[in-house]
Amino acid sequence: LKIEKPRGTRDFLPDEAERRRGIEQVMREIAESYGYREVSTPTFEHLTLFTIKSGEDIVKEIYAFKDKSGRELALRPELTAPVMRMFVNECSVMPKPLRFYYFANCFRYENPQKGRYREFWQFGVELIGSDSYLADLEVIVLAYNIMRNLNLDFILNIGHVGLLRKLLEDVDEVRYHRIMRMIDKKDLQGLERYLNSEGLEGYLESINELIRLKGGTEIIDHAREIIPDFDFSHLQNLCKGLEKLQIDYNLDFSIVRGLDYYTGVVFEAFAKKGLGAQNQICGGGSYRLSHLFGGSDVPSTGFAFGFDRIAEICEIEPRAIESILVASTAGMELKALEIAEKLRKLSKRVLTDVMERNLKKQLSFANSIGARFAVIVAEKEFKEGKVILRDLEKGEQVVIRIGDLLKRLNREL
Ligand code: AMP
Repeated sequence: LKIEKPRGTRDFLPDEAERRRGIEQVMREIAESYGYREVSTPTFEHLTLFTIKSGEDIVKEIYAFKDKSGRELALRPELTAPVMRMFVNECSVMPKPLRFYYFANCFRYENPQKGRYREFWQFGVELIGSDSYLADLEVIVLAYNIMRNLNLDFILNIGHVGLLRKLLEDVDEVRYHRIMRMIDKKDLQGLERYLNSEGLEGYLESINELIRLKGGTEIIDHAREIIPDFDFSHLQNLCKGLEKLQIDYNLDFSIVRGLDYYTGVVFEAFAKKGLGAQNQICGGGSYRLSHLFGGSDVPSTGFAFGFDRIAEICEIEPRAIESILVASTAGMELKALEIAEKLRKLSKRVLTDVMERNLKKQLSFANSIGARFAVIVAEKEFKEGKVILRDLEKGEQVVIRIGDLLKRLNREL
């Protein structure tokens, strides 16, 4: 009986795990350079954390289960709600703004396909405590700079859910969310049918006009004609800031984002190639959630990268780390271990034999894993305080004093 991994999950072998680690490192370093600090929350939470705002419908997409005491729990499908729960529980008296980032696995019961998994990773940030355009500007610039530093070829679209909210302010919550969901899914026929069936056909034209608006800041004037009493100053200030910082973006008022908690600016980034249909690599925006979890009403803004999708298209390679095998003749195993311990100061990979193989087989293993050097600890040389250093790439070897080994390898590698 061979046990396979569960549907929608993946294994990562060392090459891939290292590549992913390199990408993660770039994200972490840039987020930290903006003053964001890492937080970590539980892998599972109370199911209600995720249903409070998004409704029971979301349970279909969640790994929800009862534990042995009958508690309704869920594997986290995303990190924004958990981070805001943590904020309300632990950090609400800390000086604002708070800048948090996370890198963690998420779980969704989806139909797996390229770029869509049941276990996937998100890297994201939350900037808590400000509703200024400067907060939106900071997180957008941060997301943009990370994607640029990873050499990704992407487009960035920015919208504002406040426009549709204002347009539909007289529509009740339930219908409003239905409409937003259809806009999110780009189901315009369904939307027309729904508006007609609910006696809301009066909204069809203005919704259609608004969500078709895409382009530069000139579309703000068009939007103003559709929703004259909306205050566009936040969006205009944001656009000014983005231009000043030379961020390439499009305005797009059809972005509403799947989750219902966004209240203001929203944005999405798409990879231009390499991902097919699942090409959204980043989503974010400003939202209000903390009051739903028992805190005060604190404005926040953030984004999440689809880490797996980025890893799939990102071409940066981690720095290769050379391997050194410290081999030994019979009886010299523990001497080899001692020498290996000293060589580990080099921050390379220093391996020793754990199979009790003969020297020839140890060296053949060193070749098979592409080791750069072999240090051979043999009785005769060792008695003179020496070992053999073999350069496996050049096929040359020298007998060298043990005391000089570290310096020599340091020079060579
Ligand atoms: P969301 O929390 O839905 O806004 O997702 C944020 C980002 O996570 C998206 O832009 C995707 O790149 C990524 N993502 C969402 N769901 C999945 C999934 N099932 N598999 C892989 N990546 C995903």
